[in-house]
Amino acid sequence: MRPEILFPLFAPVTTLKGVGARVAPLLEKLAGPIVRDVLFLAPHSVIRRREATVVDAVEGEVQTFRVEIDAYQVPRSAQQPWKIKTFDGTGTLDLIFFGSFGGQLQAKHPVGSKRLVSGKVERFGLTLQIAHPDYMLPLDKADEIPEVEAIYPATAGLPARTVRKFALEALSRAPDLPEWQDPAWLKQEGFPSWKEALTRLHAPFTEAHLLPQAAHIRRLAFDELLAHQLAMAQRKADRRAEPAEKIAPGPMAAAIVADLPFTLTGAQERALADVRADFAAGERMSRLLQGDVGSGKTVVAMLAMADVAAAGAQSALMAPTEILARQHYETLSGPLAAHGMTAVLLTGRDKGAARAEKLRAIASGAAQVAVGTHALFQDEVHFQRLQLAVVDEQHRFGVAQRQLLQAKGQSVHLLAMSATPIPRTLELTVYGDLDVSRIDEKPPGRTPVATRAAPMTRVDEVEARLREAVAGGAQAFWICPLVSESELVDLKAAEQRAIELRARIGPGVGLVHGKMSGPEKDAVMADFADDKIKVLVATTVVEVGVNVPNATIMVIEQAERFGLAQLHQLRGRVGRGRRESSCVLLYDPPLSETAQKRLDILRRTDDGFLIAETDLELRGGGDALGLRQSGFPAYVFADPFAHRDLIAAAGDDARMIIARDPELTSERGKALRVLQELFDWRASSPLKDAG
Ligand code: ADP
Ligand code: MG
Repeated sequence: MRPEILFPLFAPVTTLKGVGARVAPLLEKLAGPIVRDVLFLAPHSVIRRREATVVDAVEGEVQTFRVEIDAYQVPRSAQQPWKIKTFDGTGTLDLIFFGSFGGQLQAKHPVGSKRLVSGKVERFGLTLQIAHPDYMLPLDKADEIPEVEAIYPATAGLPARTVRKFALEALSRAPDLPEWQDPAWLKQEGFPSWKEALTRLHAPFTEAHLLPQAAHIRRLAFDELLAHQLAMAQRKADRRAEPAEKIAPGPMAAAIVADLPFTLTGAQERALADVRADFAAGERMSRLLQGDVGSGKTVVAMLAMADVAAAGAQSALMAPTEILARQHYETLSGPLAAHGMTAVLLTGRDKGAARAEKLRAIASGAAQVAVGTHALFQDEVHFQRLQLAVVDEQHRFGVAQRQLLQAKGQSVHLLAMSATPIPRTLELTVYGDLDVSRIDEKPPGRTPVATRAAPMTRVDEVEARLREAVAGGAQAFWICPLVSESELVDLKAAEQRAIELRARIGPGVGLVHGKMSGPEKDAVMADFADDKIKVLVATTVVEVGVNVPNATIMVIEQAERFGLAQLHQLRGRVGRGRRESSCVLLYDPPLSETAQKRLDILRRTDDGFLIAETDLELRGGGDALGLRQSGFPAYVFADPFAHRDLIAAAGDDARMIIARDPELTSERGKALRVLQELFDWRASSPLKDAG
C-alpha cells in the first residue's frame, strides 16, 4: 500500500496549478501522468543572461539590454514579422515578432517607453536583432528576469518556460521524506538529502550541475538503483524461500556426455555444476546461462534436462522462433532417445491428430522433454510433471510469458539462456534477480572469423569475390538491415540486393525476411542448410541462433547502424565449422571516429564480453547500445555508464539490507519501502524489468 506521505506526488498532473485539459496530455507526453514524473523531469541546459550594451552584444548569446522603443514597422504581408526598432545609446536593436499580435505589442510597449529586453542575439544583415524576446519588461521589473535559468524539455504547445513553472510547482509539493540511505554513506559521498537533491536538480547554476557526476544527481541515481536492486534482492530471496524438489545427477547425463563427439569445455562444466548445485539445494532455481553464440549452451541445457528426466520429471525448452525450436529438437532428440528419453517438438504448425498425439505424450509423461515455441504455454498444454523450464534467447520473451510456462508445473526451475553478452558492470541491473553462469570459453578448434570493414562504394568488389567463393563451394549470408521506419522500404532494399546478386552469381540466391510466414521461412532456411541456396539474403531473422555450419561468409550492409553486440551475434553465424570464415562489414562512408573504433574492435576480437564492454565505453551507455532490448530498465536518473560504480554499490547495499531486514520492518526498512514506492520498484512489479 502506498504511504500517505506520497499521495501528492502520485496525484495526476492536473492537480498542478495551470495544468488543465489542454496542457495535461502534453505534460504527460513530456514527463508522465503524475506529479512525481514532473518532479523528476530534469532541465537539460542552463542559460546565463548577462546584461550588455548593443555595441558589445555577442551574437548567439542570450543577453539583456536596456532599450528605448523607437518605432514600429508594420508587416506588409502575413508572412512578414512585426519589427520594433529600439536604441540603447550605443546602437540599435530590432525586436522581431511573427504572428498577428502587433497591435497588442504597441499598446503594451508604446513608442518612447523604456524596456528591459532579453533573448538570443542574432545578426540580420547589418543589424542585430532578437526574435521573440524571452522577456520584455519595464526597467523597474529587473528582478523578474533570472540571471540563471534552467531550460526544460519542451514540446509543441508547451514551451520550456511553462514546463519549468510546472516543475517548480511539483517541487513545492515534494514532502520531506524519511532518510532511507545510510548516513555514513551519504557523508562519505557528499550526498545531499533527497529533498535537497531535487531542489538542486531544479536550480542548476552551471552546466556542471546537470552532469551525471554532480553530487545531487548521483544521489538521485543511487536512490533509483537501490530501489531497483532491493526489488530484485527481495525477489531472489522470495524464490529461494520457495521449496523445490531436489534433483540428483542421473546416469543418463553421464551416458550422453560419454557419447558426445567432443569433451565439455571448462566453462560448460562449471555451468553444469552451477545448475546441479541449484538442483541439489531444494530451492527453486532461476539461473541464466550467458554465453556467446556457439559457446555451447544447448549441451548444458540438455544435460540438465537429462537429470530432470532421471528424477522422473519433465522439462520444456522454449525458443522464440520455429526455426530455432526445430534446430534444438534436432540437436536434442537423438542423444536423448539414445538413452531412453523421448522429446517432442510442439510449434504453432502442429495441427489435428499429430498435435493431439504430442499433447497426449506431454500430458502422460511419455515425453520427458518438450521443445517448442510459444505454443508450449498455451492452455491446452498440460504436463504430467514439469520441473524445468529452459528459455532460449530469454530476452525475446516477456516476463509474463516465462511465468506462463513455469505455471505449467509446481515450483518449476528456470534456466534462461542468452547470447547477448552484457558487460559485467551492468549484469546486476539486467539480471539482478537471476544467478548468472557465464560461458566465457569457446569450444576448441574454431578458427576466428577474419573480419574486415569496407565502404559501400566497394560493394562491386565484394560481390565479385563472393561469386568466386560460391563457385568454389562456399555458402554465405548477406544481411540487409532494418533501418528505415518502414519495413516495406527495407524489404525492397533486401529484394533489390537479392535480384542483383542473382544476376551476378546465378540462381542459388535466396531471400528470407520478417514478413514471411513461419513455414515459408523454414523452407528457405532448409534449402540453405541443404546447400540448395548458396547465398542467403536476409533481414535480421538469422540473428537468433540458427546453425548452418557450411556457411563461411557473412556480409553485413550498413554495419555502422547495428549495435556491436548484434554485429557480433550475426558474425557468430559463420565460423562454426572447421573451415576458415570471413565477415565483411559494409558501411556508408564517412564513418565517425567512434563508429570507426566500434567496427575496429570487431576486427580485433571475437570475445563477446569484451566487445560489449568496449561498446559501453565508446558510446557511454544509453539506449544507443540497444540495452533496452536485452531487458535493461528505463531509469530516470541512473546512467548505466556514468553510474556504473553506483550499480555495484547499490547491489551490495540491497543484499545486505535484505539479509538483515528481509521484511523491511526496521526504521530504515520503512523508509526504504517509501523509496521503492517512489520509484515503482517493488518486488511485485515484475513487468518493468527483465527478471
Ligand atoms: P549456443 O547455443 O551457445 O550458441 P550451441 O549449443 O548451439 O551454442 O553449440 C554450438 C555448436 O558447438 C554445436 O554444434 C555444438 O555441438 C558444438 N559444441 C558444443 N560444445 C562443444 C564442445 N565442448 N566442444 C566442441 N563442440 C561443441
Ligand atoms: Mg543457442
